Amino acid sequence: MMTVSATGVLTPPTVLPSKPWFQRPALQVETLVLLCVGFLLLSGNGPFWRAALAGRGWGLAATWGFAVALLTAFSAFYFAFLALLATRLTVRPLLSVLVLCTAFASWYMDHYAIYMDRAMLRNVLATNVNEARELFVWGMLPHLLLLGVLPAALVWWPQLKRRSLGRALAVRLGWLAAALAVGTASLLLVFADFASLMRNHKEVRYLLTPGNVVAALAGNALGGVQRPSQPKLPVGEDARLGASWSGRTRPVMFVLIVGETARAQNFSLNGYARQTNPLLARQDVINFPHATACGTSTEVSLPCMFSPYGRIHYDEEKIRAHESVLHVLARAGFKVLWRDNQSGCKGVCDGLPAEQLDDAKVEALCAEGHCLDEVLLQGMEGVARDTQGNLLVVMHQLGSHGPAYFKRYPAVFRQFAPACQNEDLSACTAAEIVNAYDNSLLYTDFFVSKVIDFLVGAQQQYDTAMVYVSDHGESLGEGGLYLHGMPYPIAPEVQKRVPLVMWLSPGFRRSFNIDQECLRTNAGAEVSHDNLFHSLLGVLDVQTLAYDKSLDLFAPCRPAPTPVVALNGLEKAH
Ligand SMILES: [Zn+2]
Repeated sequence: MMTVSATGVLTPPTVLPSKPWFQRPALQVETLVLLCVGFLLLSGNGPFWRAALAGRGWGLAATWGFAVALLTAFSAFYFAFLALLATRLTVRPLLSVLVLCTAFASWYMDHYAIYMDRAMLRNVLATNVNEARELFVWGMLPHLLLLGVLPAALVWWPQLKRRSLGRALAVRLGWLAAALAVGTASLLLVFADFASLMRNHKEVRYLLTPGNVVAALAGNALGGVQRPSQPKLPVGEDARLGASWSGRTRPVMFVLIVGETARAQNFSLNGYARQTNPLLARQDVINFPHATACGTSTEVSLPCMFSPYGRIHYDEEKIRAHESVLHVLARAGFKVLWRDNQSGCKGVCDGLPAEQLDDAKVEALCAEGHCLDEVLLQGMEGVARDTQGNLLVVMHQLGSHGPAYFKRYPAVFRQFAPACQNEDLSACTAAEIVNAYDNSLLYTDFFVSKVIDFLVGAQQQYDTAMVYVSDHGESLGEGGLYLHGMPYPIAPEVQKRVPLVMWLSPGFRRSFNIDQECLRTNAGAEVSHDNLFHSLLGVLDVQTLAYDKSLDLFAPCRPAPTPVVALNGLEKAH
């Protein structure tokens, strides 16, 4: 408003000099941490809040009481944790990293309903550059910018108040004590509810972000420190070839295909309505329709399926510390070769010959840093020709590794259409996702069948056999779940049920005395990854105390030469 002065001249109103709007506010380190913690808990924890408050009515005061108490308690505990690390110098980088991690993790947890536990994080960290590139999808960019980059930048805006060292310590201790007191008090207020939530839905702790990421990182770091440097503890030190080897005329070539993310339900060999196994259906294979995986991720399943412990005696530390069945077979005299088209053998083949083929430069099979699984057969003629004696080759497929199912097969296998052509599954319909996934199985069918054809061709030189088994299954949107890696106790069947298929050449069956029809009759039983260790030793007649006949799928179908047994029995009786 203009005023007229005594001199009759119009003058602007006197305005008090105010701070410019962009002036940086001054905050205590503690205030900045508290603001950030509140933001993380509210912006990055949709799945946690939905799970923690599931089944409660929003009209009830008790629901709000529970929610506010949890929010207060977790804010206080997050604050207390960060208060141990945050100084004027470290607080900004620390909070920025947490904000970015939370934004990234929460997008995945929201979109694919995954749980961030140690195994899942190891999966993410163990993926190679190309798989990591596939983890980034353009659809996540707005979410990352709004809830990650922008708030991470805002952390650098305020000025931080200075305090003398003594005063800073005193203030920090005060805050810390207050936070612990408030956190504990809030939890005690709703303790009965909270305890029942933790008892009945333990897995919700894997949804609390970024605590889940930090805990998993710390767990992996602590657990991983001693592992790689320590040599593996021996298994089956007494391993040697059994009696059936004395009269053998040809060496053995055994191929074990470790499939990736193939679920039993979508194999037409197991009754799936779509023909996803047209080629294997024409091969003389034995199919096991009821096979269960040891884990729901490569990181868990791979070490477990090759170990003597299995799911029954599952102990991650023990499994990683000990040798695998491949070491036992190598000790008995097999040349073992691991050929990999994925993220490595996860310690299973440590110290044994291994070839990483996923970045091979085979023009017809490789593009954008990925190769089709046929690359695993490249050069096998040479391997077979140059090997003296018995050969066990493990082929680790890329299989149906998601979410980019459409990149796992060449165009001629695009038979179920329209197929999802996007790494961001939320951009596709449910049917398109299943189509792309089924096309990838169709290619696996082709690949496994091609391996069998190769082994048929090698029969002159070798007694040949093949076992194909996937490492875990996959969720394709059932119940809102995608991909895999759910904690085992709550994982859906589709993530745990895997295809298991065998093929034994006539020469192999004859020389190892295996009754194929008996195997086929027994194949309908419940079997699992736990059978692999003992079945490999059993079928190849490797004798060791580590072998457990009751878990050997071949043992019931190896008819003993009866007259000899009777004679031996008589001799013993006398
Ligand atoms: Zn896997």
